[in-house]
Amino acid sequence: MLTGSCLCTANKYTITNEDATAFRKIICHCARCRKISGEHTTTNLIVPKTSFKLTSVSKWHSLIPGLSKSTSIFNAVLPGDKHGHICFCSHCGSVLYRESEMQGLRGLMFVPVGTLDDIDSVSDLRKEEWY
Ligand SMILES: [Zn+2]
Ligand SMILES: [Zn+2]
Repeated sequence: MLTGSCLCTANKYTITNEDATAFRKIICHCARCRKISGEHTTTNLIVPKTSFKLTSVSKWHSLIPGLSKSTSIFNAVLPGDKHGHICFCSHCGSVLYRESEMQGLRGLMFVPVGTLDDIDSVSDLRKEEWY
């Protein structure tokens, strides 16, 4: 099982890897990923939605208007369908996962590799480059 969290640890998750053959590691160079990360690329682990579970969600009060007051999760719907929803911690801003509405990618979670507690646990996965 893989575990991870946002920077402030208000949100933690587990990824069960009974079917780790379905996991993919994607380095994406698209313009959207550059905006999300502020870097040249993002590196995401793609896992089946059924294997991803948020295990702790903060009830801290959000001071940011429009963000959920009951959880620290916020889903912004991005224009276009390529990367669907983005979910990040409303306290520290770490992206926890993204979901795509694009055909062929539905039912999958894009989890930033940097949020894993042990980044070496996916070092053996083959990398794919997306542009
Ligand atoms: Zn956080
Ligand atoms: Zn991208």
